[in-house]
Amino acid sequence: MEFRDLKKQYQVLRKEMDRAILEAVASGAYIMGPQVKELEKQLADYVGVKHCLTCANGTDALTLALKAWGIGPGDAVFVPDFTFFSSAEVVPLEGATPVFVDVCEDTFNIDVADLERAVQEVLSEGKLRPRVVVAVDLFGLPADYQAIRAVADKYGLLILEDGAQGFGGTIDGKRACSFGDIATTSFFPAKPVGCYGDGGAVFTDNDEWAALIGSYRIHGKGQFKYDNVRIGMNSRLDTVQAAVLQVKLKAFADYELDAINVAAEKYTERLQDIVATPIIPAGFRSSWAQYTIKLQDSAQRDGLQAALKAEGIPSMVYYPKPMHLQTAFAQTPDQVGGDGINVIPGLTGNLCPVATSLCARVLSLPLHPYLTEEQIDTVCNAIRKVLR
Ligand SMILES: *Cc1c(COP(=O)(O)O)cnc(C)c1O
Repeated sequence: MEFRDLKKQYQVLRKEMDRAILEAVASGAYIMGPQVKELEKQLADYVGVKHCLTCANGTDALTLALKAWGIGPGDAVFVPDFTFFSSAEVVPLEGATPVFVDVCEDTFNIDVADLERAVQEVLSEGKLRPRVVVAVDLFGLPADYQAIRAVADKYGLLILEDGAQGFGGTIDGKRACSFGDIATTSFFPAKPVGCYGDGGAVFTDNDEWAALIGSYRIHGKGQFKYDNVRIGMNSRLDTVQAAVLQVKLKAFADYELDAINVAAEKYTERLQDIVATPIIPAGFRSSWAQYTIKLQDSAQRDGLQAALKAEGIPSMVYYPKPMHLQTAFAQTPDQVGGDGINVIPGLTGNLCPVATSLCARVLSLPLHPYLTEEQIDTVCNAIRKVLR
């Protein structure tokens, strides 16, 4: 059994996919070919925003957003403590300071009460300016944007939606990557919509930021390619990957997103009486980047993972370490290390207990649009056998 069966997906899409890839290769327009522009239009239309700019990966997409906003030294950027490293990594890369915020036990997403507490602590300490909140749509579930927007408005924060895992999710029918002032996604192969390599995209309704991102992603270009008006990056999506994504986006919108929701519901039906299954709030829909259950403690989690492995069932721990315990953040300027816990001076109470506890208890199960009912039964029976 595969954790996310990309080979099976290729078999299903093979005819269309081979044609799209060969066409891109034969065209000779390998960088910024017509497929890139077409895809950007399709992505913007799907999400429901004015501008989509593709780039080399989801991490660069976050960096491009911070650059467009001029985030730098002295700026505080609030990041959930339970996420993939990139969400926070891009902040010190721009010279700004990440401030870690705890998450909700039920949704795995940023805890808005703790966000407000963290903003107030930064303000009362008076060393950093609160500028941005990175709201992550973890495991495919959009964050609580209504509540985040209220806090952001109150304190003048910009919302950067990290939709690397959230593409396709919705709140009351409105699609992920449309909630942030700027939103980003990733086309890493295992994400809800993945290419055959690295890729990413930035979304915004704002004309000025879109123009800046268009410049930053191509060496800070001005009027033309060899007119360079700012220090930028080389961060484009290859034409071949855009061709791959055109085929994948169609399959995703036509049936894959529905199929993965059906598979996730089957897991929940079969497991909810025996283990803590994912909770999707009313009005929300997930794109199920992961199906993540919660065990009682790390011993039970590790035991279950070993038992599944013995039966040939892959599972993953997303994520084993909260951001504030990552070694790299010990080296971030403005942060102090103490007992291995790195916090902004003055934020000593901020140990993110929920995120830390989740890291010990979570386990993500095999999930993809092509998972069969028999495979779901195999996984659930194995889990029931261990936990009974
Ligand atoms: C995967 C991921 C990223 C980074 O995307 P890449 O394309 O791998 O650079 C950023 N944030 C989150 C939450 C992710 O899961």
